[in-house]
Amino acid sequence: MTQFTDTRLFPNFSQFFDGHASQGEGASLTVVNPATGEQLTSCRAASQVQLERAISSARQAFRVWRDSTHQERSNLLNEIADTMATHEEELARLITLEQGKPLTLARFEVQGAIAWTRYTAGLDLPVSVLEQSPQRRVELQRKPLGVVASIPPWNWPLLICIWHIMPAVRAGNAVVCKPSSLTPLTTLRLFELINKIAPPGLFNIVTGSGGELGRALSEHKDIAKLVFTGSTGVGQDIMARSGANLKRLTLELGGNDAGIVLPDAQPAQIAAALFQGAFINMGQTCAALKRLYVPDALYDELCDLLWEQAKAQHVGDGMEEAVNFGPVQNAHQLKFVQTLLSAAKNEGATVLDGGQPLPAQGFFMAPTLVRDIAYDSRLVLEEQFGPVLPIVRYSTLEQAIEWANACEFGLGGSVWGTDPEQLRLVADQLDCGTVWINGHAEVLPHVPFGGSKMSGIGCEFGLEGLLEYTQMQAVNIRGE
Ligand code: NAP
Ligand code: MG
Repeated sequence: MTQFTDTRLFPNFSQFFDGHASQGEGASLTVVNPATGEQLTSCRAASQVQLERAISSARQAFRVWRDSTHQERSNLLNEIADTMATHEEELARLITLEQGKPLTLARFEVQGAIAWTRYTAGLDLPVSVLEQSPQRRVELQRKPLGVVASIPPWNWPLLICIWHIMPAVRAGNAVVCKPSSLTPLTTLRLFELINKIAPPGLFNIVTGSGGELGRALSEHKDIAKLVFTGSTGVGQDIMARSGANLKRLTLELGGNDAGIVLPDAQPAQIAAALFQGAFINMGQTCAALKRLYVPDALYDELCDLLWEQAKAQHVGDGMEEAVNFGPVQNAHQLKFVQTLLSAAKNEGATVLDGGQPLPAQGFFMAPTLVRDIAYDSRLVLEEQFGPVLPIVRYSTLEQAIEWANACEFGLGGSVWGTDPEQLRLVADQLDCGTVWINGHAEVLPHVPFGGSKMSGIGCEFGLEGLLEYTQMQAVNIRGE
């Protein structure tokens, strides 16, 4: 077990508003290291009064920031990217300590946060001219909305926060962020770094647990827009509470992405990428591959190849450089995944785990495959969000497509094979926001990402994502 005890890394404050760090006045919340199960640190939640102050701090900053030039906004984002780059290692270590992912993946998360920030800095919000005639000139302008609330989850705490707050500020809004109570430390440190360079009140953060502050943000009339990434149930609650002021919403919710292997696929060529698509971040990724459909003829060979991949993972504390497979982030999630797994086992499915010896403490689980599983097992139908992949055997492609689509979620999906025409044909039939061909879970700053059905509303990334942080205004100027 790593002896990493440098507590100087931990922020000694739990909120930031009016450009100043302070301590919360609410209940105490504990942050746990998932690799040991032990407390890392604790902090006090923000009280309702403090939440009000954070919102009014953002309102005040917005009054100035909404008139900033595109160049000023872009410069600020680039400076934030620079400061994240300077503190890359420190941020990565904080992510590993509170989230559990191996350091290499945590560094990748920080690098992603930097790349997304720079990309967003470079985006344009052009004014389009819809008509230029003797009768009139009509322009379509994009205005900021006001105060944007951001509620990120615990799986990619830094990156998802950046996905929320950078387009918000690039479009001229001010933000109040409420990180997950399970992983607030990296986000708090990020806001501390940002507040050294940003105008006071533009980036505010409050910590809290049990959904209390999130509910207050959903109901608050001074929040013009709320961007949330997390479970579908919480997304529904946010939507129900947001009606009072018709809050703009971007909801990135659960997923249960299907992958379909076509009969002409070459198992040896796809096994590594399939494993990666399913087990990235120990399977705790919204758009990870969460159920795999494989034709009879390739079934045994592909299951064996995937098992080889599982056995090759080095499971342990992510702070150890050699480790490439960390713990599940929290005990509750681990228990949920184990419950789905036992149910599948009781139904007669075969469980193949990587067989690694697991550390005695912490929330560890070996990368696990479940074969010969029924298409309607809970592990297949529900989002497991952990290091286990069910592999369902199919006889006809029509059946596999039907199973893939018979799901309330529609975040992503993938098709694997060799014939380009057949791959496109099947991909076209998948009902989801992103479809990958011979890949899975790749998200890119310039490619809009969002779910269909119960996986969410709206999208992030690219110009489409940025526009969600704006209000359109048509300007109609009468001519002769
Ligand atoms: P979660 O339980 O929904 O919590 C997410 C955030 O919502 C936390 O900050 C939480 O704060 C807050 N919250 C809880 N109850 C709330 C309420 N009633 N109103 C407002 N906010 C509330 O999700 P999670 O367990 O952290 O994350 C896992 C889920 O997120 C999975 O379903 C996964 O698929 C989904 N996800 C989706 C995407 C995507 O892009 N579509 C990406 C990543 C994850 P507290 O700490 O105070 O409880
Ligand atoms: Mg599932």
